[in-house]
Amino acid sequence: MYPALLSPLVLPHITLPNRTIMGSMHTNLEEIPGGFERAAVYYAERAKGKVGLIITGGISPCPEGCVSARSAMLTNQEEVRQHAWITDAVHREGGRICMQILHTGRYGYHPNIVAPSAIQAPINVFTPKEMEEETILKTILAFGNCAALAKEAGYDGVEIMGSEGYLINQFIASRTNRRTDDWGGSYENRIRFPLAIVRKVRELCGNAFLVIFRLSLLDLVEEGSSWPEIVQLAKELEKASVDIINTGIGWHEARIPTIATSVPRKAFTYITGTLKKELSIPVIAANRINSPEIAESILAAKEADLVSMARPFLADPQFVQKAMENKAAEINTCIACNQACLDHTFQLKISSCMVNPRACHETELHYLPASKPRKIAVAGGGPAGMAFAHIAAMRGHQVTLYEATGQLGGQFNLAKVIPGKEEYAETIRYYSTVMEKYHVQVQLNTKATPEILLSKQFDEVVTACGIHPRKPDIPGIDHALVHSYQDVLSGKITPGKRVAIIGSGGIGFDVASFLSADDTAVDYTHFAQFWGIDTDFLHRGGLTGRSALKPKRTIYLLQRKGGKPGASLGKTTGWIHKSALLSKGVHMWAGVH
Ligand code: SF4
Repeated sequence: MYPALLSPLVLPHITLPNRTIMGSMHTNLEEIPGGFERAAVYYAERAKGKVGLIITGGISPCPEGCVSARSAMLTNQEEVRQHAWITDAVHREGGRICMQILHTGRYGYHPNIVAPSAIQAPINVFTPKEMEEETILKTILAFGNCAALAKEAGYDGVEIMGSEGYLINQFIASRTNRRTDDWGGSYENRIRFPLAIVRKVRELCGNAFLVIFRLSLLDLVEEGSSWPEIVQLAKELEKASVDIINTGIGWHEARIPTIATSVPRKAFTYITGTLKKELSIPVIAANRINSPEIAESILAAKEADLVSMARPFLADPQFVQKAMENKAAEINTCIACNQACLDHTFQLKISSCMVNPRACHETELHYLPASKPRKIAVAGGGPAGMAFAHIAAMRGHQVTLYEATGQLGGQFNLAKVIPGKEEYAETIRYYSTVMEKYHVQVQLNTKATPEILLSKQFDEVVTACGIHPRKPDIPGIDHALVHSYQDVLSGKITPGKRVAIIGSGGIGFDVASFLSADDTAVDYTHFAQFWGIDTDFLHRGGLTGRSALKPKRTIYLLQRKGGKPGASLGKTTGWIHKSALLSKGVHMWAGVH
């Protein structure tokens, strides 16, 4: 079914059974008491699901490189023992796992950060200390020692994080490297740091150890690398005996979305494909790949040798197993919302997944067979009702779900019509499929009335009836020109050319996005033009600049409280919604009565 995706990749000292990589994503598990044991179960479940290779979240080689003051490191024997929990658990399931070594440089969220130059990142409150030559040499050694300890802990290899604007990337780009010594100035000098790290890792770990380098192929910031420079570094990395190059897209401070749901699927794989032609070692494609069909198409088009997915393995640990069994419709698809994974990660909370609450809670949330199966009615066929019905039926209960309308999905049916949120349809598809698999009786166009519920003699009734929007108590609210967001998004009414939206939370922003959308298809060309991405490999950093669009409507987004509109939106996605609407001429007013 997926011949390219499911074919093995034979490397000199390891064979990967298929072309899937669970990409690095930090979960904050390693930072809590007992967290390594929990992380071990989390990773082992993905190994059991047959992923080809796992790459852990970033682990720092030294205190200055930590994400926060309490972040995980690998610098001593005690930490080796903790990491061995993870490697043992993964290997017991027949999996393979590499540890990512991440030095955050100026992105670290603590006062002891260091960087090639003392330039504060626009997304950090701390300013880094410029690294002296002695610190640079110590840091290179720290990377090597960290990799050697990873090998001792049982990892099959390491991924050296050289993209996303972290320390190594900060050395590579003149944006953040203003040094005048041998580690700055010319490009040859600026890439000495990553190459020295790779050589040190090889020297201390030997050849029978996988070394992956995550290389930034598109910085998406001013004064980023040019394409010829990126190719030059990739070739040097290959010469320095890196086994595989992974793709990094966009620095964290870039103001262009790279993984959010509004980014078209497999948006950036053409860049990986262009690099692949220059190298003889395998390359990994990444970003917005969330189904076996898409992964297969990338490999079939020879745009990559392997495909990395991080969030899709949070959403469904059995992604590969289901693809192997030709059950892709049963895959719980990552909808790229970022709400429970990256938004949590960056708030230093434990990550999870909006569509799979077991993610990172595998030791706490067990779906065991019911000891006493019951007859259960579920009132409401939205996401909550469907999720409950699926799990209850899977556990052996006899479940009937009543939905008053003619379709399943509830408010996800409204969400999926918002431009860039089309992925929400996948959650409806997933639950519809698995409810059928576990024989949930679905009664559409049927309200769960007391008469029905009593006549069927259910043991339990679960209400999942959704919400009614609050109707603000303001003069004119019943005027013929005033409509609910549901009427607009469901297509019941089409607003005119001048629209005021009362409320600027998530739904207000979604409605503004819906009403300001043009009719152009949301493909990569359109996306790249809108956000100003250079698709011709001509401009440094991959930027061409954005131009303002002619608004389709005049839209006012009104917020009652003061402060910046959109402040309550998701940490990693709110800026995208705001930036997109501002460039479409949407007016945002706060403190409005
Ligand atoms: Fe994907 Fe959203 Fe789950 Fe994150 S929370 S893994 S983005 S579905």
